[in-house]
Order: sequence, then C-alpha cells, then structure tokens
Amino acid sequence: MKMSHMYMPTLREVPAEAEIPSHQLLLRAGLTRRLVSGIYSYLPLGYRVLRKVEEVIREEMDNHGGQELLLSAVQPKEIWEATGRWEDFGPEMFKFNDRHNREFCLGPTHEEYLTAMVKGEINSYKQLPLTLYQIQTKYRDERRPRFGFMRAREFTMKDAYTFDVDKEAMAVAYENQWKAYDKIFTRLGLDFKVVAGDSGAMGGDNSHEFMAMSEYGESLVAYCDKCDFAATDEKAEVAYSIEDKDTEELAMEEVHTPEVSTIDMLSEFLNMPKHKLGKALMYVIKGEPVLCFVPGDREVNEIKLINHLGAGEHEIEMASEEVIRDLMGAEPGFTGPIGIKEGVKVLIDSRLTKVKNLVVGANKKDYHLKNVNFKRDFDAEIVEDLLLIQEGDKCPKCGEVLKMARGIEVGNIFQLGTKYSEGLDATFLDQDGKKQYFWMGSYGIGVSRTVAAIIEQNYDERGIIWPLQVAPYHAIVTIVNVKKEDQVEIAEKIYKDLKAVGVEVLLDDRNERAGVKFNDRDLIGIPIRITVGRDAENGIVEYSLRKDEDKTEVKIDDIKDLVLKEFNK
Ligand code: ATP
Ligand code: MG
Repeated sequence: MKMSHMYMPTLREVPAEAEIPSHQLLLRAGLTRRLVSGIYSYLPLGYRVLRKVEEVIREEMDNHGGQELLLSAVQPKEIWEATGRWEDFGPEMFKFNDRHNREFCLGPTHEEYLTAMVKGEINSYKQLPLTLYQIQTKYRDERRPRFGFMRAREFTMKDAYTFDVDKEAMAVAYENQWKAYDKIFTRLGLDFKVVAGDSGAMGGDNSHEFMAMSEYGESLVAYCDKCDFAATDEKAEVAYSIEDKDTEELAMEEVHTPEVSTIDMLSEFLNMPKHKLGKALMYVIKGEPVLCFVPGDREVNEIKLINHLGAGEHEIEMASEEVIRDLMGAEPGFTGPIGIKEGVKVLIDSRLTKVKNLVVGANKKDYHLKNVNFKRDFDAEIVEDLLLIQEGDKCPKCGEVLKMARGIEVGNIFQLGTKYSEGLDATFLDQDGKKQYFWMGSYGIGVSRTVAAIIEQNYDERGIIWPLQVAPYHAIVTIVNVKKEDQVEIAEKIYKDLKAVGVEVLLDDRNERAGVKFNDRDLIGIPIRITVGRDAENGIVEYSLRKDEDKTEVKIDDIKDLVLKEFNK
C-alpha cells in the first residue's frame, strides 16, 4: 500500500477523551474513531489488526473441533423470556420494537438463539458432541462505556457454544476449549493468566477467565506463586480468620462517639483493633434494603452479595443517606444491627459471628454500642464468605501470601450445564431412546478488547510496537526525500520485491518531511523498517526493527532475505 493514498488519520496530540495508553494509541495511530460513547469504527489499519486477531482465533477454533457460522444480531424477546434473561440482562440490553410492535434486542450474547436453533435440528446423541462458533458484533448498553475498545457498547466477540450428552462430556469440551484459548493467547504474544471467575448471570458453576496482565486492566486478580491458585477478586474465596482474645460476653453499653463516623476514627478513638468493629454497609438490592456486616478491616464483595441473594449486577446500589434514615431508621456513619426497622434484611460474614463483644453503630448520631454479641443481642443471616480479597491475604489453598495484579479479561469460558437447554426445552434422544437436555458450554473472546490488550502490552513513548503476527503491515519502506528520483526508484523496487514474496508492506511515498514520516512510522508501530535515503545511490539502505531500534546499513540486495528471516524467528 502506498501511503500517499492511505486513509490513516494520525493525531499528534493525545485526545482528551482517552485515559489509557491503548485508547490513546488506537485514536492517535488512526486505527479507530468514535461515533458516540462506546461505539467505534475500525479504520483501515485497525481493521487489518482486528482481522489478524480473528484469523488466529479462527484457526485455533477450527483446530479444536469448532464449526464457524454467523448468527443475526437481531433477536426476538421470546427466546430470552424462556430463560429469564430478558429481565436479568436489565438495562444492559439494547431493546427495540419493530413496526408491528414485536419486541427485539440486539444480541449481547447468543446462548438462547443458538440453543433454540439447535433444538429440533440435532436430535440424537450420535450427532454429539457439537462445537459451533462465530465472530460477530455484540451490543451491550454498558453502564460505563470507557477505555475505547476495552468496554464498548458495540464490540467484536468470538463466541463458541458446545453441546454434549452429559456432564463428563461437557467437562471434556471445556478442557478442549481451554487448550484452544491457551494456544490463541500464546500465539498473539500476550502475557496472560487463567483465573477462576464468577459465573454471574451466565449460570453454571465452573468458569475461568483469561486475563492479559496490565496495570490498566479493569479486573483485579489474586494469585499464588507457590500453588496454582488464581481467581478474580469477584470470585476469590477469602481465607481470613479473627483471633479473638475475649472469652466472655460482657454487658452491652452505649458509648458517646462524637463525630466518629468512620472505622479508622472509631478504631483510634476506642483504641481497639478494627476486626472488633462491625462495619455496616447498606444496599438496596432488587428494591429491598439490605444491611451487611463485615469485620471493620474488610470490604464487602458485592458479587458474592448479589450471588447470595440471586440478584443481577444491575439490581444492586448503595443506599443513599435518605434511604438509610427513612427505610432503615438508622443514622449514616452510626449504623448497627440493633433497633433497625423491620423488613431490612441483615447479613453477616461468618467470621464476625465468632467475635465476642463487638462494637457497632447505635443507629443514633454520635453513638456506638460496645460489647454487642451475635445471637444474644442481634440476629442476622450468616453468609459463609462475604469478603473481598485484599493485599496481604493468604492463599486459600496453600496458605502462602497471595499476590495481586490487574488484568484485562480477554476471554471467558463457562460450563453452563442444562440451564439453557432446560429453559428452551432443547433435548436429544440418548442411547436408550430417552429424552435428555443438552449439556452446554459457552466460550467468549473479546476480539476488539484483545486488540487493545495487545497494545497495552506493546508500546513505548513514541507509539505502538506491533508483534509481527498481528501487525497491520509487516514492513514499511520510507522514502526520505521523494524529490530524489533514485530514492523513489529504489524504494519502489524494494516495495515490489517484498510484496512479490508475500510480505505485507507499506511504501511511505508522501511528500512530507522525513521527521513526520519517522514519527508516523513509530506511532503506527510497523515491525520492520527500511529507510531509503542518501546512500541509496550507493546501493545501501537502512534496516531496523521497531522493537529494538538497532539500525544497520545493508545492501539493497540483502533486504529480502533479512525480512524473510524475521518470520522464522
Ligand atoms: P466484563 O466482566 O468485562 O463485563 P463479561 O463477563 O460481561 O465481561 P462475557 O459475557 O463473558 O463478558 O463476554 C465474553 C468476552 O467479551 C469477555 O471476556 C470480554 O473479553 C468481551 N467483552 C465483554 N464485554 C465487553 C465490552 N463491553 N467491550 C468489549 N469487550 C467486551
Ligand atoms: Mg459485562
């Protein structure tokens, strides 16, 4: 491609809307443009990268038994009602009516659609196992679209679905997809971890997430260097116990704690360890007030909370001060379990129930209660583990101190069981001629998010450093001065020769200053660079790689071999 006619709108300035490197570089390198919040286009360079990532995914899905198809983005309400997800997805789903007032959505995912399709078409165990996948555009009206391709409202996803005869066969399919994902993210050159994830609205009880490690990742991962434990903060089981020295339950008393409304202040004011303080957090979940108690040195894990209550992510919010006062009859900053209004659900983390003589809010401004004891003074529903993992926690498997790191969730695999086949009454006949529900799995890769993750792991202050396997073009030939005929001629010859052997190459034939061209070349991150300048008339050009910058003077005749060698490294 000759750059004089290329649609590559690069930007010198960092766009104000972009907060993280991948988002800035996607815009600056002219890979994408935003239409409205969370809706992006793929411009020519960006689209080439996307297609390369898709190709790696496609090859490995095919290698692992997948058959590609393409489903519509438009889906009718009825199939979603059958599984209860029309409601569960809540405002994240883009819904609309057709001219006959029939309700539809733009698919955020395709479990229902594909299950409804396979139903009636696949009737016998002899046709199983089955793995179907697509690379398709998904729509989710995210609450906070941000970071460009990372959390968009329209994005490209690879979604695969497996259908099996029983639980064991489903587990085999799951393993197989896991292997495919390992291959894909390794081929894409990503530094990634596989971690246990929360199944959430997807259902099922086994899921893993593939995390590309990056300080800008939205997910927090806890992992152990000693054993193989790794989980998202949403999922991670918390190994935490309180060593309580108290053996006797003392008489409850009210203490005046003027203006002492945070755990830190209270701990200092009473000179007591934070784990003796019952920290109260108030939520409104599915419209109902819920009060949670956890040790004062810990945070509530909201995912564990909604899972415990069977609620969706869009059904939880922190209670406002007014709600705390009106509905709960309590005082913000001084909330406790004693004397709150009826109808408030009270939950307590199991660890806190074993602590004697707790301090809790008195539900009265500027007062707390001391020596409060579970069961004697108040009751609550016990939740085994309501805590969010935090720095310094021990591994629940081996006891080593866990490490924490941020990651970008690029892929997700789920064992679904029979949730969808039951919902849609999708069955096959087993060996004994008996009707059975399909055992399913669902496997997603955020293709556009993966492009962003690759950038996050491959850039410097000047721009992107594409790995060769996903680079929009492999090589770039820069003509230093287009007014010099010999430079133009030699560059064109190198360009043609490289193209002839299958190298994807750009020719920077623009009538621009060399500095501008070098800056663009750095910014768009083409891996192999050939600079045709003054020495060209002596048969010498400059050869360098974007990733290490060592410049060498080489003979024009040697270029082709040097470039081809890069592909065998
Ligand atoms: P998240 O927790 O990030 O919202 P999810 O659990 O909703 O992700 P899945 O439903 O499992 O995601 O979708 C499969 C994959 O699609 C994810 O692993 C992720 O890579 C990608 N993905 C999900 N939501 C978005 C989005 N809004 N923008 C870009 N990619 C996304
Ligand atoms: Mg999501």
